[in-house]
Amino acid sequence: MRIDIVSIFPDYLAPLELSLPGKARAKGLLDIVVHDLRDWTTDRHHTTDDTPYGGGAGMVMKPEPWGAALDEVAAGATIVFTTPSGQPFTQAVARELSGHDHLVFACGRYEGIDQRVIDHAATIGTVREISLGDYVLNGGEVAALAITEAVVRLVPGFMGNAESLVEESHEDGLLEYPVFTKPASWRGHDVPDVLLSGDHARIAAWRREQALQRTAARRPDLVAPTSVGADEVRLAVP
Ligand code: SAM
Repeated sequence: MRIDIVSIFPDYLAPLELSLPGKARAKGLLDIVVHDLRDWTTDRHHTTDDTPYGGGAGMVMKPEPWGAALDEVAAGATIVFTTPSGQPFTQAVARELSGHDHLVFACGRYEGIDQRVIDHAATIGTVREISLGDYVLNGGEVAALAITEAVVRLVPGFMGNAESLVEESHEDGLLEYPVFTKPASWRGHDVPDVLLSGDHARIAAWRREQALQRTAARRPDLVAPTSVGADEVRLAVP
């Protein structure tokens, strides 16, 4: 997979050298290039923003540098504009994006990017507008980092133990069950007996029940009768 990220703050993307994307790069599964949008400016001050037509507070990112940047790096790609007015980012979206060969992230700043850039991008690639959540960040870099990390760990061959992905929160529509490691007793808190029993069927049943209870308590919106059996939820939740 190839990922290009365009930003006026390329240093913000330095964590991509570390952690999961860094490992995927080292394994040769991923090629990530971070670009400075200012490289596509033509004036002495490397201007990337201007006042909004129609008035109002703040500045808007100019179309010319974005157009030149996307023409150079994004032809034929899936072009992700990070924006609070986009589609909410979920595990399902991450899984879908992990199947794309070439993602380009356009990180907005100020009041956002001139709409014509998004319209133009749709003529050279496939546009996705994605929101990290219902809040406003200062820029799209944090969203691009989060989306990249969630996507990259789903790229086939990346995770040493692919099974660990299957059981994770949101993969099967549920939150993950609580997890424990050694020692079996710590500060008066004991690991549930069932996990020490060696009985794999009982352990699997306990984990499923815990996942259902936790999801119903914390995220009832996820436990719709269509996604998991309504009877199973009723039995699991006291
Ligand atoms: N005026 C814009 C609005 O009300 O929708 C917000 C602009 S925000 C200050 C600057 C940039 O941060 C956006 O263009 C976008 O790239 C990024 N951003 C802010 N919040 C975001 C979110 N929840 N998800 C993804 N990107 C976000």
